[in-house]
Amino acid sequence: MEEDNQSFFWIKSEGVRKLATKNLVPGNQVYKEKLIVKKGIEYRAWDPFRSKLAAAIMNELERFPFENKTKVLYLGASTGTTVSHISDIVGPSGIIFGVEHASRVARDFLDRVAAHRSNVIPILQDARNPKEYFSVFGKVDIVYVDIAQPDQTKIAIDNCERFLKRGGYFFLVIKTRSIDVTKSPKKIIEEEIEKIRTKFDVLQSIDLHPYDKDHAMVIAKYRN
Ligand code: SAM
Repeated sequence: MEEDNQSFFWIKSEGVRKLATKNLVPGNQVYKEKLIVKKGIEYRAWDPFRSKLAAAIMNELERFPFENKTKVLYLGASTGTTVSHISDIVGPSGIIFGVEHASRVARDFLDRVAAHRSNVIPILQDARNPKEYFSVFGKVDIVYVDIAQPDQTKIAIDNCERFLKRGGYFFLVIKTRSIDVTKSPKKIIEEEIEKIRTKFDVLQSIDLHPYDKDHAMVIAKYRN
């Protein structure tokens, strides 16, 4: 994926071409990322070593459905690095429900991201209990999952069944070592993809090397 697509941008800074998003909250930094001003517009450099969605873009992600007004359910928000860039992209009319179960991490997520961005709704919950997400309303366009749990594919599918609209997109980060250390990463990814195929059309599987070791991202579409 090479061209600017208005969701993210390629910006030259100090002679280097950098991936970036347009800052929804000018002046606000989330993880000490570089702020770059071009023609009066402020952008935030999007670091593929810190965000697996950026790593997927660097590694030839073919379809990027995040755009203005998109509604996203994000499981494993952590301190909000990736959520903050999605927040830039979906803009004030979009929304991201960010689920995180670890309270210390969730506090950072609140302070760094949700407090500054009205399109981010933090949900301090275990992703195993989607019926407890009281603030999620209606269906979402994308479910993004990065929770690094051995049973994460099942958790992810449960969440999709409840919240993803038909034809919506599913992004699943597979941390192969958190599933089974004795199996080869390739085999693990194949097995996880098989579980998804029952309900989704798998579009792409991306190895996130060299940005992330032992991680893959699978992109799928919820069958109509
Ligand atoms: N996606 C983040 C990013 O790109 O900035 C990084 C996510 S980190 C690898 C995984 C996160 O998932 C951790 O913050 C962890 O606390 C959270 N997590 C793990 N299991 C969870 C669960 N069952 N419910 C909610 N969050 C969970």
